Amino acid sequence: MMEQAQRLLQTYYGFSSFRQGQEQAIQEVLNHNNTLAVMPTGGGKSLCYQIPGLTLPGTAIVISPLISLMKDQVDALNAYGISATYINSSLSTEEQRERIRNMEQGRYQFVYVAPERFDSGHFLGTIQRMQLSLIAFDEAHCISQWGHDFRPSYRSIVPTLYQIPNLPVLMALTATATQEVIRDIKQLIEVSDDSVVNTGFARENLSFRMIKGRDKRDFVQEYLKNRPQESGIIYTATRKDADQLQQFLSKQGFAAGKYHAGMSENERKDMQTKFVQDEVTTIIATNAFGMGIDKSNVRYVIHYSMPMNIESYYQEAGRAGRDGEPGDCVLLFSSQDIQLQRFLIDQSPVEEKKKEEYVKLQAMVNYCHTHMCLQQYILEYFEDPNAHEPCGKCSNCTHAGKEKDMTKEAQMVLSCVKRMGQSFGAGLTAKVLKGSASQKIKQFQFQNLPTYGLMSTYTEKQITRFIHFLTAEGFLTPGEGRYPRLQLTSKALTVLKGERPVVMLVEATTMDVEESYNLE
Ligand code: ADP
Ligand code: ZN
Repeated sequence: MMEQAQRLLQTYYGFSSFRQGQEQAIQEVLNHNNTLAVMPTGGGKSLCYQIPGLTLPGTAIVISPLISLMKDQVDALNAYGISATYINSSLSTEEQRERIRNMEQGRYQFVYVAPERFDSGHFLGTIQRMQLSLIAFDEAHCISQWGHDFRPSYRSIVPTLYQIPNLPVLMALTATATQEVIRDIKQLIEVSDDSVVNTGFARENLSFRMIKGRDKRDFVQEYLKNRPQESGIIYTATRKDADQLQQFLSKQGFAAGKYHAGMSENERKDMQTKFVQDEVTTIIATNAFGMGIDKSNVRYVIHYSMPMNIESYYQEAGRAGRDGEPGDCVLLFSSQDIQLQRFLIDQSPVEEKKKEEYVKLQAMVNYCHTHMCLQQYILEYFEDPNAHEPCGKCSNCTHAGKEKDMTKEAQMVLSCVKRMGQSFGAGLTAKVLKGSASQKIKQFQFQNLPTYGLMSTYTEKQITRFIHFLTAEGFLTPGEGRYPRLQLTSKALTVLKGERPVVMLVEATTMDVEESYNLE
């Protein structure tokens, strides 16, 4: 059967060899083992269910969370000469009925549907009468409550499916899955350890950069000037930011469009087409833009402000370089972004999820402050099964600085946190160390602490950033509540005892005083 798979790869798709993970995933499915494939964006997940779908007798049902994704996939299959269709609410009732009739007669090899299609028993009743080759769950992280795009309908399909007598082999595919999500998917669709194909998350062609302390507009303007012909996406946190930035860039003569949920469906569609056809080179968008966009030559993704968690960040940034050519992923950080994200989490109606969201937000904040390789940081966050060397091209790897021993300063911060009762955030702690005369300090009588004014030669901002750095490196944690309450970790205790040095990169020749920890 694998020989046939190989032949199909060549005759239908024109590819000479499988990519990493594809062959194994296909083999598992052909052996009728429920399979989970975890591969990075652009890794070639579609083939993993399409080739078995072409090999096994019957119709393949593909469950996909987005209407635009379905249409793209169906168009691509049709272009290869494969009979495929989608059935969703974008079609008239008449058209839907027509396609369901055709489906029942076995006229399609692939049928794409949204998870909600299973909410009524009708569709399930129909597929029970058919011969099915497989059922694939695309973007399978939506199945999991731990995933960042949880869709309840997606989850409830599975127990329903297990009731049908002609249940074929099941396959789940995703690009973003933490170990929690993987465990969850495995359990839900009954995948054994041997049938998990995980090629890891690394996208070797992406370079990650962190920019701090710069005027964001200036940065973007300069950046676009240097890349006049290249396509890119700029993500903003709010619609208002998207509107304003787009207006500004258009005035400067850039071919910039915008995309957010405040625009009409037609406006959005129009913008998407213009972007895909390169009429608009830069699109300024909120996170509403993305999932269905199949544009492989996006050369850069700039985050105008920090997103809510690493999952969203990596998914959005990962829209760069899907063609395998270099992609630049830039995050413009300012500390106000943290306040905004905290506020957004606070607005969320689901009380139980808030704590978890804060923890995820903190991992995102730590990414902005860490000095380790940014790519490694992300891969460690996702508990990538493969070991990775520092990438050598992110802004931390290429940092032209020297290492400086900051153990003494770290001890000052840590003992100050301890003396303040481990109940306050970075802001007030920095004020105490600076020796500032604020009302709150008087209120708690912190001016009497031996650590008061201990770091008066530094600016308050520098101390705050240093505290963030210590948090990013795991010496402090902000706790889990709405307001950060800095606490010492076990790692911190070894620093206080003088058993562990704290070293950080210091810019050798910095023009940016704010960013510098070079304080001699
Ligand atoms: P994903 O769904 O994992 O993001 P796709 O399935 O859309 O990725 O594939 C990404 C790109 O890689 C597509 O353009 C696809 O045609 C191409 N591709 C997939 N498999 C192969 C292969 N074995 N050889 C060459 N190109 C491939
Ligand atoms: Zn790196």
